[in-house]
Amino acid sequence: MKKMKLVVIEDEVKIARMIKDYLEKEGASVSLARDGASGLQQAREEAPHLVILDLMLPDINGLEICRRLRQQSDVPIIMLTAKSQETDRVVGLEMGADDYITKPFSLAELAARVRAVLRRTRVPESRQNHGEKILTRGPFALDIENHQVKKGPQEILLTPTEFSLLAFMARSPGRVFSRLQLLEACLGEAYSGYERSIDTHIRNLRKKIETNPAHPEHIITVFGLGYKFQVPANPGDPSKGMLHGEGSSGSGM
Ligand code: CA
Repeated sequence: MKKMKLVVIEDEVKIARMIKDYLEKEGASVSLARDGASGLQQAREEAPHLVILDLMLPDINGLEICRRLRQQSDVPIIMLTAKSQETDRVVGLEMGADDYITKPFSLAELAARVRAVLRRTRVPESRQNHGEKILTRGPFALDIENHQVKKGPQEILLTPTEFSLLAFMARSPGRVFSRLQLLEACLGEAYSGYERSIDTHIRNLRKKIETNPAHPEHIITVFGLGYKFQVPANPGDPSKGMLHGEGSSGSGM
């Protein structure tokens, strides 16, 4: 499990700790979430290779978490269930969980399941990309793990939501996202119906990353649709926009 990043969503601290210790001995790096909401957020921000999800959580039902995880990514999910939760197990698998393990279980067995699922779902190109640590777009370098953004040499301080928004859009430059899509990806469904709250975050984000927030060149409003991230072709920047070498030598004037 070397270099595999896992998120464990489990409210029982003792169990969560034991899982973490065991899997880290096997070489994985494991972060813990004690409730559904923070689990979803961590799964979104950390882009783990696998999520271990307890179905019995204090805030959001595990099945609901499973459904939302699936909406936001294709990360492999292993459910932890109680013997009595057979129906939930079936529903969970139908919702796209990859495997389950019944409590009580041995850590060795869990580790074996994790390895098996990771083997089965072995990193397609797209996820490698999704999981890349530094996302470079034009003048921006986004450190996905550490939530740091630089524009050129300058570090920019963003709130977690602003960072999520920027990272989410910057993964697909030029693609237009509706407010609802941005809301669900970056704030969670609890906010649905509050699409306009995205505008506030976008406005704040622009203040921080745009040279002139009144005339943004990176976070672009697409009227009637939503927003997109773009890196304008910048003749002053020789590192970008010349992949095809067109007219790369002459100034033309
Ligand atoms: Ca639990």
